[in-house]
Amino acid sequence: MSAVLSDDYTERCLWQEQVTPPERTPGPLPDHADVVVVGAGLCGLAAADTLARRGRSVVVVEREPLGWGASSRNGGMVIPELKAGPLTLERRYGPVGRRMHTEVVEAFGYVRDLASGDEGIDCSWAEPGMLLVAHSTRHLDTVRGLAQELTAVGEAAHVVERNELHTEIGSDAFVAGVVVERTGSVQPAALHAGLARRAMAAGAVVHDRTAVRSLRSRPGRHEVVTTRGVVRAPEVMVATNAAVDRAVPELQRRVLPVGSYIIATEVLPDDVARSVLPTGRMVFDTRNFLAYWRLTPDGRLAYGGRRDMDPTDVADARDFLYDQMVAVHPQLAGVRITHAWGGNVAMTLDRLPHVGRVDGAWYATGCNGSGVALNTWLGHRLAESLCGDAPLPACSEITHRRIPFHPLRSAYLPWVGRYLSFEDRR
Ligand SMILES: Cc1cc2nc3c(=O)[nH]c(=O)nc-3n(C[C@H](O)[C@H](O)[C@H](O)COP(=O)(O)OP(=O)(O)OC[C@H]3O[C@@H](n4cnc5c(N)ncnc54)[C@H](O)[C@@H]3O)c2cc1C
Repeated sequence: MSAVLSDDYTERCLWQEQVTPPERTPGPLPDHADVVVVGAGLCGLAAADTLARRGRSVVVVEREPLGWGASSRNGGMVIPELKAGPLTLERRYGPVGRRMHTEVVEAFGYVRDLASGDEGIDCSWAEPGMLLVAHSTRHLDTVRGLAQELTAVGEAAHVVERNELHTEIGSDAFVAGVVVERTGSVQPAALHAGLARRAMAAGAVVHDRTAVRSLRSRPGRHEVVTTRGVVRAPEVMVATNAAVDRAVPELQRRVLPVGSYIIATEVLPDDVARSVLPTGRMVFDTRNFLAYWRLTPDGRLAYGGRRDMDPTDVADARDFLYDQMVAVHPQLAGVRITHAWGGNVAMTLDRLPHVGRVDGAWYATGCNGSGVALNTWLGHRLAESLCGDAPLPACSEITHRRIPFHPLRSAYLPWVGRYLSFEDRR
């Protein structure tokens, strides 16, 4: 079925339409700095802000117009999660796994501090908690296990059985859920623009429409070759996540960019919005091709996900998401879609974030779909580490493997996708 579209429907990101990002720093691109940061998403900007506040000269170079990237077009769910509970991480990785959980909680606190309070960035921060819903009885263990692992480490989490799910979600499509209280929500483009302003106010120089072509690195000395000149610096930090390109080939081989799409409805009447998500949680389900949805600060439903790993476009993804949304929430049948857009998330082989060095440059990458809290904090923490003020994050101690047969990925990924879809239907 085709989605029902409003007269003013656009394939633009709702959040980006509501926010004007700052202009780049005036003047020419500097020819040297203490640190060059590649990429002005949340990760790069948090690094720049932290470095500038510690008195370092920092130049951020961004290939696209400021505010173009995933950091401004995501679901705005601030979820401290690593695809596995804290005890599972500890079983797999020992004390490093446990530290990774502690750090993702710290990441949440870092973004909460940035985004809330009188001095915080104005980005509609709220803490509605999240609801993970099991789409089949085969996934009951997933939600129960997560609740158990989180409560074991003192997190506020509880299972919601099927007969009580209606208190959390207006849908009969799920068999149980788990609520995790420590989850926030933001208007992501506002968070991003606010962080850019904050970093620039602290002294970071930010130049958008300035693509890095290559890095020439020798110990303690890098030349960052951009489309607008060369910047020399003793340290370089690459914060390109899924948008990584051939400028850093070794990093490109370790990340799989996967598209994710979002549709936004027209503003819903209050009673309809409440019937869909009575508690206003950030929701996602247990499918491999997971769906995620939330109410926006202005009262729409934003519904995200993707069908499979086949090539697609925004219109195709939009129609698929509309059907899925109405199947989950029949009360939304006929509701009009005003916006649809997409972006890439950075998958890694172990579905964990990674921090390390390639060709002498530092990098932080691998959001695996949940980087609003984590990638922002990784940028901040890596910057602290470069200043000698904090240890590297725990994920720097885990091997970051290459994606197998990376050049052939477009040939084999559709088949991987078919298998994952088959699993989702079982
Ligand atoms: C549709 C969608 C929904 C999502 N929903 C959520 C969510 O609800 N919650 C959540 O936690 N996460 C979500 N994510 C993931 C989240 O958006 C990312 O984890 C986060 O934005 C990553 O920030 P970043 O700064 O690392 O990367 P980005 O924001 O992608 O920034 C990287 C920047 O690097 C620049 N760049 C790349 N190459 C070069 C080069 N050669 N020279 C100069 N610049 C370069 C790019 O232009 C880009 O702006 C979602 C992502 C998408 C796409």
